Amino acid sequence: MPEGPSIILLKEAIQSFKGKKIVKAEGYAKIDFSVFSNKKIKEIKTWGKHLLICFDDFFVRVHLLMFGSYRINERKETNPKLSLQFSKGELNFYAGEVKLSKEDPDEIYDWSADIMNDHWDAKKAIKKLEEQSSQFICDSLLDQQIFSGVGNIIKSEALFRAKLHPKNKVGKIPPKAMRLLLRETKKYSFDFLEWKREGKLKKHWLAYSKKVCPRCDLPIHKEITGKAKRRSFFCNNCQVLFK
Ligand SMILES: [Zn+2]
Repeated sequence: MPEGPSIILLKEAIQSFKGKKIVKAEGYAKIDFSVFSNKKIKEIKTWGKHLLICFDDFFVRVHLLMFGSYRINERKETNPKLSLQFSKGELNFYAGEVKLSKEDPDEIYDWSADIMNDHWDAKKAIKKLEEQSSQFICDSLLDQQIFSGVGNIIKSEALFRAKLHPKNKVGKIPPKAMRLLLRETKKYSFDFLEWKREGKLKKHWLAYSKKVCPRCDLPIHKEITGKAKRRSFFCNNCQVLFK
């Protein structure tokens, strides 16, 4: 599943369509395609893993989920879920989730919960974490209302960098260690963005998909962790588990 930084790259890649008029919209998404006719894209935003293509009085939200993909000025052989065509160029989305909303994105999205947003607020995140003290930190990091945009890669890498075990209960993590984790999560998310842009993302993985801990030279464990039952990569030796 593409994580927040990858959706920022998608947004950047389609910026040239901002201000452009849609001449045809089609696809198999269960939405009213007539709303797009002759409408100009006003703005393109992201909230975590959501891409928001905004028009004057509505927006369309694309969430690629596990198997979604897109093509810019190209087509895949399969039918698109959403195809937006301009006088020059087109934008095609495959699988994933496509929804229309007439609401104002500022009304329904909490920008301070989006790890890639300038408004992301660590203090608010700490407050929300205090309300889930009995939860595993590996689950909390995937909570899109606290860390919108964080997925399995950012989760594993941030925990490794902060030397915290994924199976720590949130309430057992000392405040200083928690603040470090929040800093590392944000920092790694932005490093992810730059490394992905340069095509060097995998080269910089320290724990995710790795076999050996670069700090200890001991095996990296791969385990399905937490309520979310998602994969975590971690070192039992240098990632502290607070009791
Ligand atoms: Zn280690």
